[in-house]
Amino acid sequence: MTTHLVWFRADLRVNDNLALAAACRDPDARVIGLFISTPQQWRDHSVAPRQAAFIWQNLQALQQALAKRGIPLFMREATDFTAAVGTLDAFCTEQQVTSLFYNYQYELNEARRDALAERQLEGRVACQGFDDSVMLPPGSVVTGNGEMYKVFTPYSRAFLRRLGEGLPPCVSAPKPRAGGALSEVAALPPFDYPSETPDAMLFPAGEEAALKRLRDFCQTAAGDYPEKRDFPAIRGTSLLSPYLAIGVLSPRQCLHRLLTEHPRAAEGGSGAVWLNELIWREFYRHLIVAWPHLCRHQPFIDWTARVAWQRNDAHFQAWCEGNTGYPIVDAAMRQMKVTGWMHNRLRMITASFLVKDLLVDWRRGERYFMSQLIDGDFAANNGGWQWAASTGTDAAPYFRIFNPTTQGQRFDADGDFIRRWVPELSHIPGKAVHEPHDWAKKQGAALRYPKPIVDHKQARVATLAAYEAARKE
Ligand code: FAD
Repeated sequence: MTTHLVWFRADLRVNDNLALAAACRDPDARVIGLFISTPQQWRDHSVAPRQAAFIWQNLQALQQALAKRGIPLFMREATDFTAAVGTLDAFCTEQQVTSLFYNYQYELNEARRDALAERQLEGRVACQGFDDSVMLPPGSVVTGNGEMYKVFTPYSRAFLRRLGEGLPPCVSAPKPRAGGALSEVAALPPFDYPSETPDAMLFPAGEEAALKRLRDFCQTAAGDYPEKRDFPAIRGTSLLSPYLAIGVLSPRQCLHRLLTEHPRAAEGGSGAVWLNELIWREFYRHLIVAWPHLCRHQPFIDWTARVAWQRNDAHFQAWCEGNTGYPIVDAAMRQMKVTGWMHNRLRMITASFLVKDLLVDWRRGERYFMSQLIDGDFAANNGGWQWAASTGTDAAPYFRIFNPTTQGQRFDADGDFIRRWVPELSHIPGKAVHEPHDWAKKQGAALRYPKPIVDHKQARVATLAAYEAARKE
């Protein structure tokens, strides 16, 4: 009997899962699934405990969904990626696996692990990989010279042209398999990893919850997205990133659902702005394949490697804890600490503040975000940080420096978001919350909230000087 193994990683779903669908195509094959966790490596590389817990919750939902289709899901643990390949190899022998199906992961270490697995299994197990976590495969949206775009706008135009040639299809969840081995289903052991349970109201686990959220968003909110997406006090974005990051949802499902509700989205009509964000996600994924050195946390723009960063641990700590004295920055950092998620506008503001007001190396911020985010995704996070630090391709120019106070005034005008997340400021009315010490002085009131740890104007001058010195060197 042939046994097909699906090696699940960041693709924890049964719907529109290319590797799973391919494995199930042969009706006579026995199909089984495997997930190998690497908790030690997660610790070292700072996977957020909340994301690890979310993975585990979604594995349980996946196990149930697979069981209904007669496909058992096994779980194993390994110390690191190299050991994971050994574990996979032993599992293939134990289960007499004939074919391995998996969806590509594009980060350098993951891609190397998969190449090693293919080499090690060669001649014994037929291996097949799939471009599943993207709408269009890396390398398929390129310039006339066959090169990856460095600038987003022409990339997105080319991307939309490709979509116009034919949409990437969504594949259905496999049908229940005759004689599927339901009896093999055993409870999954939890990870040996400290976890913080995600807020089940904010991020309920499982594909059904993700698909419902996608449907609701496309039906009721995707049309208003351009007007609402920049204001953290309201729910104007989809909150789908945790599901996309670990593959509980695919970008193709997002695309198809969006086009069902907004048929002109790919031609600039209603829904186009949200589609554009999905294309940013693809852009960053395609970039790390074209320039793998990005996975080594190297800047895209060479001269920015020479910026003389300041190593001020007290400043860094104040930023992490949300005690910088800049209300919008602090509210955002505390939102992330409590929920594991942060609004996109606030990711830009907090990242800019760390790099351009505190002159802290963007890689410290990048790493800290990964240690906190429930939607931690290497390509999007690295892309976002390199954008904010002006070190990346098509990044904000280095002389563009957000003013954290005016950003707050613009995007949280009445201060509702700040009051929600910074209780020390909850009694300050309206716009006054953006400059709380001025308000307290006028009122003659005491305030238990830090004074700004840096003066923005002075910090701006110092940062410009540091970038200019690096550029001229
Ligand atoms: P929506 O606005 O509803 O967008 C839909 C989807 O498109 C998102 O779920 C996400 O998958 C994708 N997307 C949206 N904006 C971007 C973007 N700028 N870049 C790449 N993909 C995008 N996103 C992550 O998924 N994981 C990260 O680790 C991450 N780190 C970031 C770090 C920084 C410094 C910055 C500036 C941005 C980062 N982003 C990251 C991108 C973005 O902030 C989040 O994807 C978004 O806030 C998620 O909320 P949402 O699902 O409601 O997004």
